[in-house]
Amino acid sequence: MGYDYRILIGGKLTKPAKNETMEVINPANNTLAAIVPKCSEIDVNLAVEAANKAKTKWKSTYIGDRSDLLVKLAAIIRAHQDELVPLETMQYGGPISKTSKFDIPFAPAELEFMAGLGRSMTGLTISADPSARVMTFREPVGVVGLITPWNFPLVTAVSKLAPALITGNTVVLKPPSCAPLTVLKLGEYVVEAGFPDGVVNIVTGPGGEVGEAIVNHPGIDKVNFTGDSFVGKRIMRLASERVMPVASELGGKNPMIVLDDANLDAAVEGATYAAFFNSGQNCGSPSRFYVQDGIYDRFVDRFVKAAGKIIVGDPMDPKTMMGPLAYNTCRDTAEEFIEQAKQEGAKLLLGGERPNTPETINGAFVMPTIFEVYENKMDLMQEEIFAPVVGIMRVKNAEEAIELANDSRYGLCASVWTMDYRKGMLLIDQLKVGTAWINQHLAIVSETPWGGQKESGWTKENSVLVLDEYTYHKHIWINLDEMPNTFWSNRISLTD
Ligand code: NDP
Repeated sequence: MGYDYRILIGGKLTKPAKNETMEVINPANNTLAAIVPKCSEIDVNLAVEAANKAKTKWKSTYIGDRSDLLVKLAAIIRAHQDELVPLETMQYGGPISKTSKFDIPFAPAELEFMAGLGRSMTGLTISADPSARVMTFREPVGVVGLITPWNFPLVTAVSKLAPALITGNTVVLKPPSCAPLTVLKLGEYVVEAGFPDGVVNIVTGPGGEVGEAIVNHPGIDKVNFTGDSFVGKRIMRLASERVMPVASELGGKNPMIVLDDANLDAAVEGATYAAFFNSGQNCGSPSRFYVQDGIYDRFVDRFVKAAGKIIVGDPMDPKTMMGPLAYNTCRDTAEEFIEQAKQEGAKLLLGGERPNTPETINGAFVMPTIFEVYENKMDLMQEEIFAPVVGIMRVKNAEEAIELANDSRYGLCASVWTMDYRKGMLLIDQLKVGTAWINQHLAIVSETPWGGQKESGWTKENSVLVLDEYTYHKHIWINLDEMPNTFWSNRISLTD
């Protein structure tokens, strides 16, 4: 608190044109965490202008030099790890055990990964016509708008920023309003690293105003968005006016299928971690469980006991495994789903209430909550709650599990737990999702592609595939014949 956070426009750490501010609230106790700049369309216009001014030079900068800057930025983030970890925890409630091991260390690692990966980027050579030389060159998209959510504030921003920059784009980045602090610090590090003015611009402010101003601005060539499916659809509708491409990583309602021959210890460990890590606020968390009859009772008994042992408390305490939700509305929404599930006849097996310890009483906490469910059409099994709230259904066999798993408008990820890998492989062939694990859930690293199907979006983050999101192939055709090819039988210019 008291820190003078600045936005970044055209290489200058500055205040918004209207000099307005907004509050960031610590969800662990609902106290004021920070006051940050609140931008308007005016600032977006300036940021887009700066990004456009910088784009030609940045695009033609040797990729090795762009790579060096990414590596330098990574080193600066790493040097500030001790400052960033508590900031990250304070703004969205991710426990310090998580932010210190994942959120902050992963950001420089991602920059370094992309700094190397981007340098191996190639185009195609195509044997289309022996009398021509045909190839594609990769070109950056131009100015990319990056709009990011709060559940991993720094990592999500860097996972977009790194591939955008290494491929030669300039960016306008908008972090979430409830958790912009570490991305605002990133702006300071961008300046310290020595990125040319205007290559990275960071604006903060409400999605409906600042986010939409980015989407609607004719100087933005593409938007890369991670967030709610409802917001994603709105952005796509707006973007369609100018046929502007939108990369979208949206919501999920991810199934976990546990078959009779699963390793019970592994399935219980995997379920407990993946469902409740980060209070279930992971796009990839499993929130629907389809468990086969023969293992059902043992799995449910062990899962409920294991989830009951999760330490819920002050996210600043290193022992804490689950902190609060990101803000009060998230908690209130989760409680509405819990109430509705009870009224619709789901059986509450664990949780369903707030913790009432002194350190949690004023925060946005919800205890790990498990329901036994009899009907897959319930909202509990269909809607993304984005909280530590899950439903379990008993299924007769793998076929029924697959059918129920696919009965969703989302298609982000899924897991199958079985010791019969052949069966597992054949089953995941039938799942309409972007990522499918066998005997694992929530394993996501820089090297592996991430992205969904259906209403979970259609693009890829991470891995070599992410380079396609920030470049297009320009097709070049060089004719080696004296005359051009045509389908006419005569050379029209030689016939008079
Ligand atoms: P939101 O969609 O509410 O917000 C995401 C970002 O979009 C924020 O910066 C927000 O700004 C901005 N925004 C909101 N409205 C608009 C608008 N009309 N136009 C442009 N930008 C807008 O998501 P949350 O932050 O609540 O994040 C949780 C969601 O993100 C979940 O649905 C989760 O599944 C999804 N997610 C998906 C991932 C994936 O890889 N598929 C990964 C991580 C999260 P502001 O904060 O100011 O409202």
